Amino acid sequence: MIYSKHNIFSGITGSENFFIVNLLSGSADILNPDEGRMLQDFLGGKEMSVEFRKNLTEQGYLVDEKEEQRLYRSKYLDFIDTREEDEVQLFFVPNYSCNFACTYCYQDEYIVQKQELTTGVIDAFFSYLHREFAGRKKYLTIFGGEPLLNSPKQKELIAYLLNLANESNLEVCFVTNGYSLVEYLGILQTANIREIQVTLDGIGHVHDVRRFLKGGGATFEKIVAGIDACLENKLPVNLRMVVDKENIDGLPEMAKFAIDKGWTRSEFFKTQLGRNYELHHCQGTSEKLFSRISLYEIIYEQTRQHPYILEFYKPAYSVSKFLFENGSLPDPLFDACPACKTEWAFDFTGQIFSCTATVGKASESLGTFYPEVSRHEEMINDWESRDVTAIAECSDCNRQLACGGGCGSVAKNRTGNICSTDCRPITELLGLGFSAYFGPDHDYQQE
Ligand code: SF4
Ligand code: SF4
Repeated sequence: MIYSKHNIFSGITGSENFFIVNLLSGSADILNPDEGRMLQDFLGGKEMSVEFRKNLTEQGYLVDEKEEQRLYRSKYLDFIDTREEDEVQLFFVPNYSCNFACTYCYQDEYIVQKQELTTGVIDAFFSYLHREFAGRKKYLTIFGGEPLLNSPKQKELIAYLLNLANESNLEVCFVTNGYSLVEYLGILQTANIREIQVTLDGIGHVHDVRRFLKGGGATFEKIVAGIDACLENKLPVNLRMVVDKENIDGLPEMAKFAIDKGWTRSEFFKTQLGRNYELHHCQGTSEKLFSRISLYEIIYEQTRQHPYILEFYKPAYSVSKFLFENGSLPDPLFDACPACKTEWAFDFTGQIFSCTATVGKASESLGTFYPEVSRHEEMINDWESRDVTAIAECSDCNRQLACGGGCGSVAKNRTGNICSTDCRPITELLGLGFSAYFGPDHDYQQE
């Protein structure tokens, strides 16, 4: 029996205890300080007690190497099979233009196209979907720029698009800045809306200095009215807060605001935090950006000080939240990047892209659906073949089945190669997560 190559073992933040997790065997345990030290000693070459060895073997932390390889292959095949059945998220960008001039927008360098969306492009988009994704479960997400621009022409085009989505029985999500939600309410109600993602970066001024109208002008109050209107009309809202060092201190206040408004009690309300990061170009002020782990360390501290934040937002800390809520680990994650597998993106110029991270970047175009269909099969194949078995560093990494290799676009921007790593601080996140969800501090776990 050998120590499994998929064990993730480390100390729990703020505790003498340790955790050990193995996504392949599906085991997760907390080790007391004596057990933790015994395992550390074992890894340092010492013997361990018969009893402890037996426990570790039963839980799949000590394994027969060949057996483990067999299990890995079988779970990998399961993963590929299941993904064939998974729902595909199809993004459509009706325009890259926007009525906001957010300080951190990564699309600000995109060249403004002279071309405009037409009903002909929308028709071609739906024809392509019916042909390429026939028989697949799928839904649409309308993205931008800002898709809900308040002009009669834009409203007509969005209504046209939603009508075709209805005819195709497709649910629709929107990613919007939320400024014109009230004006779009009637149109949105004609569709089968799965979710409207709206961004608020804080309360009042905190938001307004980051997300303001082009040419200046506050946006907070109008977005809040839009969210209220959606929730009153049972349109599900996913509130996203994009955070960096400039606004993270506003998280407790933001949570309080959403709780006081009654939003967090609505079944139509959920939230997410987005880490502001450099995707395609330097933001010039990168010292204001968090690394993945430093962001979660701050959130961990903030939620300890203000436990009510958990009513607004529950951090995942890798697989910790899942384990806490389900009592078991998720299936092994052989691939974290859905690009060209369960995600595609299309824009109003007729181009096809892998996902939201690449959409609009001319060099990332994978072909066209309009005016005629063309596909760069080699590039598509690169995206499709990316998973932890295809990335050399990942196949030797003990965190691979929790990390899944990260984001292909971030990896490509870093190394020029899609099949390279975008490492996630899995061990550190689990250290925080075991403390937050399984620590002795029960008050903190209460919502
Ligand atoms: S490349 Fe990154 S942003 Fe695009 S689908 Fe993959 S993980 Fe998501
Ligand atoms: S991307 Fe990095 S952390 Fe993730 S599985 Fe690959 S080597 Fe491990």
